Amino acid sequence: MMRMTVLASGSKGNSSVISSSRTRVLVDAGLSCRELTRRMAIAGEDPAALDAIIITHEHQDHVAGLGVMARKLGIPVYFTEPTHRAWVRMMTPRRTLSYAAWLDQMQREKEERARAAAGMAEPGICDSMSAAVESGECTPMEDPDEAEGLGPAKTKPDPAFLPAVEYFHSGRQFCIGDIEVTPFTIPHDATDPCGFVFAAEGARMAVATDLGYMPPNVKAALKRIDVLLLESNHDLEMLKDGPYPWSVKQRVLSRVGHLSNHATAEFLSQDYDGTASFIVLGHLSESNNAPELARLAAEQALAEHPKLLGNRILLAEQGAPLESICL
Ligand SMILES: [Zn+2]
Ligand SMILES: [Zn+2]
Repeated sequence: MMRMTVLASGSKGNSSVISSSRTRVLVDAGLSCRELTRRMAIAGEDPAALDAIIITHEHQDHVAGLGVMARKLGIPVYFTEPTHRAWVRMMTPRRTLSYAAWLDQMQREKEERARAAAGMAEPGICDSMSAAVESGECTPMEDPDEAEGLGPAKTKPDPAFLPAVEYFHSGRQFCIGDIEVTPFTIPHDATDPCGFVFAAEGARMAVATDLGYMPPNVKAALKRIDVLLLESNHDLEMLKDGPYPWSVKQRVLSRVGHLSNHATAEFLSQDYDGTASFIVLGHLSESNNAPELARLAAEQALAEHPKLLGNRILLAEQGAPLESICL
């Protein structure tokens, strides 16, 4: 059995859970750890059962709760290396460490923690660490909730620390547990943005949001998909007449912005192979779209092909999780 649970979708936060019967992966962590945990509980997903987090790109609406969530659960985070670097830079804007020095420091901190856990050192005392550590940058990981302001933090955890990091490359398949992951490059104004196809137990689920247009590689990746989370970001007229400043409108409309209802409909009528039992429209703009418009555009596109009428269209929401889709 394979399952997709969309916890949130939109410019204020994105996150979904993709599961096989053996493996559970959180795709993006664009809400606070507390909110993600709350939504998982509502949707019947157990955060403690997550095996990994995988990140599409470093925009805030995809990583807002990443550090806290990964540290709290003690699970690895899968990124491309450029996306990881960009995230580290975002989390440590004033730090002057080079990436190599930062990796060294992370490794030392990890070893210290392992030693402390094994009883070889006093827990929480980094006695043999470098000057950077003495300056207060090494901090044992206390309850990550402190980072969200729940308790009186005595020492500030490094916001870029992760329990483990795994790198993948776009276009190169890899596995997380028994889920086979195929990342594909998407055109978007981030460092190295990706969409994903997840395959397990004979089913295939795809996540394709945050793309300025539908390039051939994405069209090719989205073949033989059973559940497709697809961007339908804005209505062109609403965006043009809407409240965004001109520069932001330009960005959204650009080849590295977001897919309009029209562009999504065009993909569905011209390039889509019709295999999905569920198409979940996602990343809907709250200012420049209306769920009925996104649905109507997609339904009209599918109606051009009577054999596609069996495709069920769902609308992902910003404010609440969708019921899990199980295959
Ligand atoms: Zn986004
Ligand atoms: Zn983005």
